[in-house]
Amino acid sequence: MNILYIYAHPEPASFNAALKATALETLDRSGHEVKVSDLYVMHFKPVLDASDFLQRKKKDILNLFPEQINASKTGTFVPEIIEEMEKVKWADLLIFQFPIYFTGMPAIMKGWIDRIFAAGFAFDPITQGVYDKGLLKGKKVMMTITTGADESLYSNSGAHGDINDLLKYITHCIFEFTGLEVLPSYIMFAVNSQSREAGKQRLEIYGEILKDL
Ligand SMILES: Cc1cc2nc3c(=O)[nH]c(=O)nc-3n(C[C@H](O)[C@H](O)[C@H](O)COP(=O)(O)OP(=O)(O)OC[C@H]3O[C@@H](n4cnc5c(N)ncnc54)[C@H](O)[C@@H]3O)c2cc1C
Repeated sequence: MNILYIYAHPEPASFNAALKATALETLDRSGHEVKVSDLYVMHFKPVLDASDFLQRKKKDILNLFPEQINASKTGTFVPEIIEEMEKVKWADLLIFQFPIYFTGMPAIMKGWIDRIFAAGFAFDPITQGVYDKGLLKGKKVMMTITTGADESLYSNSGAHGDINDLLKYITHCIFEFTGLEVLPSYIMFAVNSQSREAGKQRLEIYGEILKDL
């Protein structure tokens, strides 16, 4: 399988970095082809703006959907976007790995979505090319997430609420919206307070989960 691993953590000595290393090693050993988008290492620009377009359809006012649709048709996104879109086209499975920030993705990863899951490329707002007609249909996606909070806080009766419900704005409104088939998220709770030993066990479990993809 062709797998695109999209990763966001700023620290190479973090637990997240160890998870990523485990994933890449396991996937490679299982015979998968893997490409990585390590967003902090790439200094990925997370802001969708006029500089995304080499050519503008309308120069007097910036209207993002028409510009994205035009750039998708004419191949006139800046090269860093084209490169990421080529990786998405190539992939059968996208894996997003990140530490949870305010119960969402770090801004750098959300910005990757804003710019790469562009209108005309990932969905089509004109022809209603969304959900079962989303332009990424046929591909799968999963998330690997670490939290600081304990699992009880992210339960139905906890202060935050059920984490899978809270993440629906990603799994449903981004992933399913663009036609992706969503695999269960792998969530590791209370990572800040785990011991190194517990961390090692979690790395092993993560490796086992990815072996069974
Ligand atoms: C802006 C911001 C917003 C946040 N919002 C939320 C939120 O809404 N909800 C929430 O729950 N959390 C939140 N957090 C917390 C955040 O999600 C956690 O800090 C993060 O998930 C921890 O992952 P890490 O990789 O940075 O852990 P690390 O700090 O790198 O590691 C944690 C522990 O894992 C062990 N470990 C580290 N490396 C290894 C290794 N190689 N092998 C084995 N064990 C190891 C160590 O015992 C270490 O102490 C937020 C944090 C920030 C900065």
